[in-house]
Amino acid sequence: MILEVPTTDGSCGSFNDLRPGMVTVVGVPFDENSSFMRGPALAPARIREVLHAGSTNLCSESGIDLGTEPRFRDLGDLEFASGVVAFEQIEKTIAELLDRNVYVLSLGGDHAVTYPILKAYGKQYDKLNILHLDAHPDLYDEFEGNRLSNACPFARIMEENLAARLVQVGIRAMTPHQRMQAERYGVEIIEMRKWQPELNLDFRGPVYLSLDMDVLDPAFAPGVSHHEPGGPSTRDVLQLIHSLRVPITGADIVEFNPKRDPLGITAMAAAKFLKEIAACMLESN
Ligand code: MN
Ligand code: MN
Repeated sequence: MILEVPTTDGSCGSFNDLRPGMVTVVGVPFDENSSFMRGPALAPARIREVLHAGSTNLCSESGIDLGTEPRFRDLGDLEFASGVVAFEQIEKTIAELLDRNVYVLSLGGDHAVTYPILKAYGKQYDKLNILHLDAHPDLYDEFEGNRLSNACPFARIMEENLAARLVQVGIRAMTPHQRMQAERYGVEIIEMRKWQPELNLDFRGPVYLSLDMDVLDPAFAPGVSHHEPGGPSTRDVLQLIHSLRVPITGADIVEFNPKRDPLGITAMAAAKFLKEIAACMLESN
């Protein structure tokens, strides 16, 4: 089922057999902008490994079998050079996929990769709503001198007007600077201390879902670089995703760090989210 597609310079002829409406998975193994600890570049391969290890199947809870679903395709990992040029190549390849009218579910990488992905989405979709699940708002103007840090992507996204609305859920480590940034950019934040079982997220159009694995309580997902206790369970997050009643036109699952995940618990949680988000994308579009 896995197609390893060579995407050397971002232009890939193998995208030719993609049909409009497909949900495609791409790995974005890039963690050079991680502010604390490297490791998320190993995530896409590890997520695929546990997904296909035989301990689980490829069915979503709603009954969609990704193993036989003709509208689902794993395209393998994007290839890109090291350094700042990587973002241009990621953006270009995602834009080529969107030109083919497919939906993209990206496997990071650290959260910095969401910026080039959403730049590509911004060209294709006017006024996209972003639902951002994270322990952190990632709104730093710059972090330790790096404006492309994994602590900054949503500052870049908002200053470039790539979102109609940015709704952040699960936040529980917000600095005064980031509170000011949130006000400046009109970010809607549901802090973790205000989380309720039935969060009524009132979206009126397509949603891009950005899922940082550290939104989960570390008890459910120890394999992340930034442990932030007091988060939701895997089921809480699944329930939130399942409750969306608008099309999910794109998504990313980021910040899984296999180096901190000796038992594979976080890898399997990420694989579970892959299945459930892909199914929601298939069902909602
Ligand atoms: Mn994040
Ligand atoms: Mn985070």
